[in-house]
Amino acid sequence: MTAVLEKPAVVELEDVHRNYPGGVAAVRGVSLRITAGELVAVVGPSGSGKSTLLHLAGTLDRPSAGTVRVGGRDVSALSDRALAALRASRIGFVFQQFHLTRGVPALALVADGLLYRGLPAKERRARASLILDRVGLGHRAGHRPHELSGGERQRVAIARAVVGAPALVLADEPTGNLDSASGAEVLRLLHELNADGTTVVVITHDRDVAAALPRQVRMRDGLVVADERTEVRR
Ligand code: ADP
Repeated sequence: MTAVLEKPAVVELEDVHRNYPGGVAAVRGVSLRITAGELVAVVGPSGSGKSTLLHLAGTLDRPSAGTVRVGGRDVSALSDRALAALRASRIGFVFQQFHLTRGVPALALVADGLLYRGLPAKERRARASLILDRVGLGHRAGHRPHELSGGERQRVAIARAVVGAPALVLADEPTGNLDSASGAEVLRLLHELNADGTTVVVITHDRDVAAALPRQVRMRDGLVVADERTEVRR
């Protein structure tokens, strides 16, 4: 008898659909299993359902049909409150537009990533400070978003996403607004996080970015049309 030792899924979608009002079928039956430690690119033309898929995988949105499991738990069984708690403890998000609150210093922005963890403010700040050092921005802790470059803003956003040590980081075009040098730095950080054990999923329209990741999920018209693993030489 052979024992099949499958790695546990960090997130799993089973025949997931998402329809929007007006008859838009943004995701039309996607099954996808992402296991611990993976580094995955999601690629495909604009409008193919990549962001919708990421929102579903991140439990920011609920499917119209099908099942989403995070850490083995069917999210349809969870209340909004329980879902928010699950998300806060397990998932970090990074967006193309950074989503950093204006006027708030980097340290406080990152510390806010721990708001739902029940930690005292001092501990939140201490952890935020460590992670800002880690992304190379310890010297910018007091700077507000408008005092930072695009690349620095995205590094603050990454620090905020990972300060709570989530199992899964979901990044939607994280380099889309950056020059190539800053984009490369952000990708290096995502690779580093993954090397430390975080599962990372990156939406990208950049072929070079996708080619540098070991698994590529290709979407078209709300469907996964290819799912390939490649040997990546780094
Ligand atoms: P991608 O990320 O690949 O560009 P999206 O997931 O953003 O694709 O969108 C997939 C489809 O769903 C598109 O046709 C888009 O117009 C539509 N869509 C996305 N969000 C909404 C929404 N909130 N309401 C209605 N339609 C939407």
